[in-house]
Amino acid sequence: MLGKDHLLIAAILSIPLLFRAIDYIPSSFFIVLFIFVGICIGSLLPDVDAPDAAINHPFIRGKHTGWSKYIAKLNPVVSKITRIFMRPVAWIMKNQIKNLDTSHRGAFHSLQGISLLSIFWTTFTAIVCLIVLLILKMNIFILMAFPVGLFIGSVIHLLEDSFTARGITWNYPKHFTLRGNVKTMSEYKAKQEDLKWKEKASFVLLYFLVTSIMIFLFVSSVWLTLLFLIIQIFLAFPIFSVKPHSNGS
Ligand SMILES: [Zn+2]
Repeated sequence: MLGKDHLLIAAILSIPLLFRAIDYIPSSFFIVLFIFVGICIGSLLPDVDAPDAAINHPFIRGKHTGWSKYIAKLNPVVSKITRIFMRPVAWIMKNQIKNLDTSHRGAFHSLQGISLLSIFWTTFTAIVCLIVLLILKMNIFILMAFPVGLFIGSVIHLLEDSFTARGITWNYPKHFTLRGNVKTMSEYKAKQEDLKWKEKASFVLLYFLVTSIMIFLFVSSVWLTLLFLIIQIFLAFPIFSVKPHSNGS
């Protein structure tokens, strides 16, 4: 999937819930805002393992205008810091996994990979907040919402990649792979016109857009919004033929 698809689906999925959360927790606007920015960037983060990915460039392929240009400016900074964190994370994972695959859709496209990267991001943000508090006497701990969003966005990214024909091995290096029938632009560029509607990434985007708008219009409670969000994701599995493959084949 292209960076713009990842970013748009993550934004579409999170906006109804975050909007209701503002009503639910008074004075939570900035917490929600930082979570949202974290989710947007996190939705591109696992592709830090692919040199041509949107997170590694100051633009998002096909979408470097409008509001996303502000996210795009943050991309290279987050990417550089994440690339530093990838080294200790790879070292930790190498201690448990022989022949660790750090190439695209390898170790960093797994729950363990994104969790470890998120732990480093959380620690880094906490240290920055602590230094600012000690030196400038300013409390900016509200920024801790950013790594939370980063983790949620990364999980959404893995979910989106699970719709594709190549799929995602969630528990790498073991073999629980979720795989669907969406054929991505990078792998099926020449054949995009011949694809069925269910095989196009743009249809995944359309599905989440329509269902999220319905949830937003008809559900006002934060908990019901969360419930319908989960139902919306699980309903997408049969639609895009997402199935578990436990033998790694
Ligand atoms: Zn990916």
